[in-house]
Amino acid sequence: MQFELTETQAMVVKSTREFVERELKPVAAALDRERRFPTEQLKGLAELGLMGVNLPASLGGAEAGVVAYSLAMIEVARGCASTAVTMAVTNMVGEVLHRFGNEEQQERYIPKLTSGEYVAGAFGLSEPGAGSDPGGIATSAVRTDGGFLLNGQKQWITSGSQAGVMIVWARTDTPEERLGNKGLSCFLVERGTPGVEVGKHEEKLGLCASETVPLTFHDCFVPERALLGDIGAGFKVAMMALDGGRIGIASQAIGIATAALEAAILYSKERKQFGQPISEFQAIQWMIADSKTELEAARLCTFRAAQLKEKGERRFSREAAIAKLFASESAWKICDRALQIHGGYGYVRDFPVERHLRDVRVTRIYEGTSEVQRLVIARSRLE
Ligand SMILES: Cc1cc2nc3c(=O)[nH]c(=O)nc-3n(C[C@H](O)[C@H](O)[C@H](O)COP(=O)(O)OP(=O)(O)OC[C@H]3O[C@@H](n4cnc5c(N)ncnc54)[C@H](O)[C@@H]3O)c2cc1C
Repeated sequence: MQFELTETQAMVVKSTREFVERELKPVAAALDRERRFPTEQLKGLAELGLMGVNLPASLGGAEAGVVAYSLAMIEVARGCASTAVTMAVTNMVGEVLHRFGNEEQQERYIPKLTSGEYVAGAFGLSEPGAGSDPGGIATSAVRTDGGFLLNGQKQWITSGSQAGVMIVWARTDTPEERLGNKGLSCFLVERGTPGVEVGKHEEKLGLCASETVPLTFHDCFVPERALLGDIGAGFKVAMMALDGGRIGIASQAIGIATAALEAAILYSKERKQFGQPISEFQAIQWMIADSKTELEAARLCTFRAAQLKEKGERRFSREAAIAKLFASESAWKICDRALQIHGGYGYVRDFPVERHLRDVRVTRIYEGTSEVQRLVIARSRLE
């Protein structure tokens, strides 16, 4: 066990923080208000190597590891949570391609994701009838001359219309032979492929500068080379991707909560009531103390899961679920306390905590709800 950052990790934190202070924090409120996709900011992240933090340098990645990825995600989410989720999904797509893609697929797509040539990647698992249970996926992929025809609907796809490449999960079993989770396979769908219809952009509570869209596939042809991994291996790919993705979302929650706590501390020292700064009141100090304690605990859980993934010696599903559950639930409480410390001023857009509270809420939902994380943790103990 060691608690110090390596030289590489410290460098990633430093360069990311400088970028966030300079390029992201000053525009985050406007991006949110205008619901503007952060194209320029994402290019900046790619230039820093943050679109493939844990990918090999030979494919344009930073090759800095999973703990460095978590640290970078915390910094980016501290500045703009919408930019952070777009970065999280793009890193996840790159890692899935690296792990399960053949050489041709890796070389075709990963450098475009890491360099920023593709502004983002997308992850098409959820459907109107398949959220917590991917076994409910109904999108089909039927073999045809030279490839597959995709038909069906995807829901909640982050960067769905912006992404240069999207991983799409579809059923490759037939209705007669239904194979459950073993009937799922993954396909790579490039932006602009005919037969993909982008639906109405969701009007969300938070993460307003990120894009979330439904997608419909109408006889969408993809060539044979679009198959990612083996036929029937899609469920395994999804579970492994989500294990890693959960470390990213735990880190995003920590980043948002860090920003909220910083804002609350600053405000508590400036705001005076009853003739003194409100930071002098024990009630406020206890809120700050509880938030700081939870934040530190969330960081430790998350770095532990990240380190396990980085070592690659064993599965880390339970640790990733613990990190995501604890970090997202704590971050929600921390943001709520930060708003409380602001009193009425926390409830309006003039102060950033209102945005942090809206942004953090979804970390308890996506990449597996808190209830699903509890299922993963409990099952791992009961088996
Ligand atoms: C902003 C946003 C971005 C997203 N981005 C993506 C994306 O890029 N790609 C993608 O594929 N998906 C994405 N999602 C989808 C997200 O992962 C799902 O919303 C999430 O997995 C939950 O699925 P659901 O919304 O269908 O809820 P449901 O699964 O219908 O759950 C409803 C409720 O029932 C509970 N529940 C369900 N099953 C159980 C159980 N077995 N035990 C106890 N409780 C249970 C849930 O915890 C929840 O409280 C995104 C969602 C949002 C909101």
